[in-house]
Amino acid sequence: MTTAFLGMPLPTAPRGVGMLRGDEPFPQAARRALGDAQLRRNLGKATGTIRARRAAVVGELGDDWERLREAGAAIKDDVLANLDRYLLQLEEQVSARSGTVHWARDANEANRIVLDLVRATGATEVVKVKSMATQEIGLNEALAEAGIAAWETDLAELIVQLGHDRPSHILVPAIHRNRAEIREIFLREMGAPGNGGGVPAPPDLSDDPRELAMAARRHLRDRFLRARVAISGANFAVAETGTLAVVESEGNGRMCLTLPDTLITVMGLEKIVPTWRDLEVFLQLLPRSSTGERMNPYTSLWTGVTDGDGPREFHLVLLDNGRTATLADPAGRAALRCIRCSACLNVCPVYERAGGHAYGSVYPGPIGAVLSPQLTGVADNPTLPYASTLCGACLEVCPVAIDIPSMLVHLRTKVVDAGRRGARPPKPEAMVMAAAGWAMAKPGRWRRALRAARLGRLLGRRRGVIRHAPPPLAAWTSARDLPLPPTEPFRDRWSRTRGHQQGSGS
Ligand code: SF4
Repeated sequence: MTTAFLGMPLPTAPRGVGMLRGDEPFPQAARRALGDAQLRRNLGKATGTIRARRAAVVGELGDDWERLREAGAAIKDDVLANLDRYLLQLEEQVSARSGTVHWARDANEANRIVLDLVRATGATEVVKVKSMATQEIGLNEALAEAGIAAWETDLAELIVQLGHDRPSHILVPAIHRNRAEIREIFLREMGAPGNGGGVPAPPDLSDDPRELAMAARRHLRDRFLRARVAISGANFAVAETGTLAVVESEGNGRMCLTLPDTLITVMGLEKIVPTWRDLEVFLQLLPRSSTGERMNPYTSLWTGVTDGDGPREFHLVLLDNGRTATLADPAGRAALRCIRCSACLNVCPVYERAGGHAYGSVYPGPIGAVLSPQLTGVADNPTLPYASTLCGACLEVCPVAIDIPSMLVHLRTKVVDAGRRGARPPKPEAMVMAAAGWAMAKPGRWRRALRAARLGRLLGRRRGVIRHAPPPLAAWTSARDLPLPPTEPFRDRWSRTRGHQQGSGS
């Protein structure tokens, strides 16, 4: 378990491993994504459909929905406030049922633990049920380096893996692909030697969803039947009994969790719920918020090892990787309430246009903008807290009521503070703020600055708005228009119309 020393900064997720940092800042990546019209069409269609389904099933519950949200938030806050106690209880219960618990301080440690466990079985390949935690730590890459192939079995993850691509959505990792693109990937990659062979797609495959699903089914069935080791994530872990839970829609997860001899689960240490009664709350909140269903088609629950049923060996890897550091910040820790439903992504105007890859992290969208910078430290993800309009739509839909907009503002403060200590905040903003601070320091200066701003009207005299401003405002107008400054600043207007009333005691 991570040890904290008073006064020492807590360790964040290490560099050079995993998928929490992008290759380029958000504004650059988003600008490129915005130029991809096909991507924007795919995203708009998919998020619009999920949004409508969510709204319908949430609406059915009326006022009860708000009570469920409050309950979900309260349970998670209790877990975070007493995480040490619940983690030890979970370890005790899993161990009492013949499971083994491993503590991983960070991505490198978690990868090492899993690699050693797989090596001990002698297996050279593993099947995986969709797991964000293993993507966060770059487990597939770590296994591949050691000569062990990891096969994704969630349909969307399979599409991403076969397409040599990266996930772009929490729930639908291949949301950026349409049916025609998926067909092409299946025909090209299924059965290819570089993908470990396996059952190829039929040559006359069409882009009909059912045909695509059947091709994936045949391909994956072969993998399931020969796998001896499975690696999973977990949606929840019930501390009182040591039970793990995975919810999914396809049944592929169920095959992973039951067929192989050895099951290894990698789970972020915030995924705990104290009791089964608490799990009940989340099994109502999660499906309605994620897939827009009343309940998940498959909810798999397992507790340690059971004779004659399921895997013979069970290992649970509890992952920190920056979570303790996140927990230490009272204004940021609520991000750890997240149950990865993706509702905030589907309503976010920024996500809908830029897509998930622009965030550079396995956690995209509004939750990624607050979680990734906390797991890595803001210096490694300084542009993500700015990837938002602060419209508040994410807070409205979040089933555990995470106040993402306030957290974004808090993290922007941290980015600026980090800049003062040596890291670099976004330059144009720092320059504008410095100039505004200087002008506002003296009333006379401010008055003159406002009058000078009227010259800006010249820049927008033809269109009624300013499309291209000179530096440092150029960064603002590269993405949006500036309104024209007023012909007469408020102070001048006040002096002209009411100046004579000053001192009248009104
Ligand atoms: S922040 Fe809330 S809405 Fe977004 S993924 Fe997490 S639980 Fe869902």
